[in-house]
Amino acid sequence: MISINDDLKIKHGNRGDKKIALTFDDGPNPYFTLKILDLLKSQGVQASFFIIGRWAEKYPDILRRIHKESHSIGNHTFSHGGDHDDDAKFGDYRRCEETIENIIGIKPRYIRVPGFGYGHPVRVRELRKYDLQNREYLIIDHDINSDDTNLDISPTQIIEKVTREIKPGSIIDCHDGCGSHKVHPETGEVIKPLDELLKERPKAIYQALPEIIRVLKSQGFELVSLDKMNLLG
Ligand SMILES: [Zn+2]
Repeated sequence: MISINDDLKIKHGNRGDKKIALTFDDGPNPYFTLKILDLLKSQGVQASFFIIGRWAEKYPDILRRIHKESHSIGNHTFSHGGDHDDDAKFGDYRRCEETIENIIGIKPRYIRVPGFGYGHPVRVRELRKYDLQNREYLIIDHDINSDDTNLDISPTQIIEKVTREIKPGSIIDCHDGCGSHKVHPETGEVIKPLDELLKERPKAIYQALPEIIRVLKSQGFELVSLDKMNLLG
């Protein structure tokens, strides 16, 4: 039995295995997830998808395809909201889990906390309060940030960063979707609506992926789902 604790924030897999996990957050997104799945399939590569429950409810067929094609599935909350009170926040994980289970018949084994505040210890303590200790959840972080949420980044910059930082066991954080509007950090004013972000934000990582996969394969790395990574050893 695995309990949630600070030691189990997993940033990478076994450094002795030349295995890499590509992970995608914030989907399913009808504008990009299917294209990414096509690309992964054509390259014979498995990845992992951290699902937002409300998008899965809206696009269940995309989640079914992710599962059918043997990619790993993670819980990324139902709403991706950051401003709930505690009960609502914990309920958000539970609701995402139920949504995923209703669609594909299995509970996800992985959690990724929304937002890059993930590493903040309060957030991990919050998860522990959610009392997940009877479930075999692993909290998955990353050791390589593709920086693909930066709307100004180019595919070339993503390729350079990822291939420069890669190590055996790396977990690369990418996004096939989006959780919410982009708001001004001070005024809270919406500066980019959600639908525009869903169409635009994953573009750079999608364009960068073929070259990232080519380079990593040429260096002898195997791109695998989290289910196939040695995460605890
Ligand atoms: Zn997210």
